[in-house]
Amino acid sequence: MTLFPDAVGDMLCESILGRGQERGHIRIECHQIRDYSANKQKQTDDYPYGGGRGCVMLAQPLYDCWNSICLEAGERLHTIYMSPCGKVFTQDDAKRLQRGYSRLIVVCGRYEGVDERFVEECVDEEISIGDFVMTGGEIPAMALADAVCRLVPGVLPDEECFTDESHWSGLLEYPQYTRPEEWNGRHVPEVLLSGHHEKIRRWRRKQSLARTRDRRPDMFEKLELSVEDKEDLIII
Ligand code: SAM
Repeated sequence: MTLFPDAVGDMLCESILGRGQERGHIRIECHQIRDYSANKQKQTDDYPYGGGRGCVMLAQPLYDCWNSICLEAGERLHTIYMSPCGKVFTQDDAKRLQRGYSRLIVVCGRYEGVDERFVEECVDEEISIGDFVMTGGEIPAMALADAVCRLVPGVLPDEECFTDESHWSGLLEYPQYTRPEEWNGRHVPEVLLSGHHEKIRRWRRKQSLARTRDRRPDMFEKLELSVEDKEDLIII
């Protein structure tokens, strides 16, 4: 649900998610909140009670848009409001949402946000994409939709595409390289050219552990390290 359905729809039709939609693995529909305004001028916002700057999105068009989607679906759909006041989104939330729901409604706010009564009436959870404020919920909603949709079976070629990546099992990913073997005087690490699968696996694991330790001590603290991990970390 957004005031900018074309921009959001265009973006989510590109690349991997676009192919996922063409192949029928996922479906993303963008609904124009303004179409539900009961007002002659198609107004969707008004001044905040109590004073202060900016405008607040009206509960009525939001509710009517939400209700029409739920009526069409034949059920009350799990509803997320993108908000800097929400819980900060993580890979675990992406997993939870993909596994838990076959359909979701994502509401994008604008201006100073939405009338709180709409949130009380229709929203099941508020999600933030980080501790900063953007001008609208569209980019946050696209980030969430992208992270959830790529986990839907069939969207990516196989599960390893995401289970092997940063944040899936509490680690950051190892460094990646592609051709040529030398670029600007910088060489691809020898081990990656060796064809020795076990040595490559162990090198990548070591790099992942070291990156996580150095960049995200909060994540590193939660890891359960094997004897091999401990040995490798000492020599890094
Ligand atoms: N007045 C609000 C506040 O201080 O919390 C900020 C409103 S913001 C300018 C407008 C809209 O952008 C919000 O309603 C929300 O939908 C979206 N938004 C902004 N930052 C966000 C974030 N970090 N995560 C999710 N949505 C965000």
